[in-house]
Amino acid sequence: MHTTRPRITPRSAAAVPPRWRREVARVLISQERIARRVRQLAAAIGRDHQGREMVVVALLNGTVLFLADLIRHLALPLRLDFIGVSSYGSGTESGELVFTKELRLNVRGRDVLLVDDILDTGRTLKRVLAKLRRLRPRRIRTCVLLDKKARRVEPVEADYVGFEIPDLFVVGYGLDFAERYRNLPFVGVLHPHVYQEASKPAPPRGRPAGLPQQLQRPRGQRRRLLGGSATRSYTRT
Ligand code: 5GP
Ligand code: MG
Repeated sequence: MHTTRPRITPRSAAAVPPRWRREVARVLISQERIARRVRQLAAAIGRDHQGREMVVVALLNGTVLFLADLIRHLALPLRLDFIGVSSYGSGTESGELVFTKELRLNVRGRDVLLVDDILDTGRTLKRVLAKLRRLRPRRIRTCVLLDKKARRVEPVEADYVGFEIPDLFVVGYGLDFAERYRNLPFVGVLHPHVYQEASKPAPPRGRPAGLPQQLQRPRGQRRRLLGGSATRSYTRT
């Protein structure tokens, strides 16, 4: 729990692999650095939960890569379950969440480790924590790969944080833009042209659709991309 939290600055020396150079402007956190940090987090979680059986509750979909790597380094008895949470369609206010998958395991009296990809405004974790607390677990601890402190709206902090990152929209290692880029093995920042292309209306038939509806009509928080003038809203998927 009391590990130091590496703070990532907008500059990064790691080269973008040639395969991704057209779309990815830079690597913010390399694959190797993520792997090292995930092992440290697993060690800290292991120390804090010795002798106990945990229920790991992960939020879909952004946690998939992080979760898989984290739990393979957890040498503890654990059970795994998922909660699906998503922003509502374009007609609702930003921050309004719907649950797309409910927890199946009984967590009453259990130690729960809640895992999410990134802690941003804190609205998601706040909502999910309130929901979990109603199920009367013995204790809930939270673990996020990334923490964007500058964007916090709700007073939520995670117990285990992989990296503190600056206020940039990031993709990779599970995190998406319009459902793409989850499979990047690193965390990176996209070129502005990727967002511009995705926001073009009505792609020809047979081609993948660009931005989801809620991104085409910005209603939610506007955010800075790459520190430039381009702004986009986005919602959790
Ligand atoms: P919060 O409710 O804390 O504002 O947002 C948490 C969710 O928003 C994350 O789980 C993630 O789905 C999405 N999110 C926030 N920041 C980013 C980002 O920089 N990149 C991506 N891909 N998703 C983000
Ligand atoms: Mg997402």
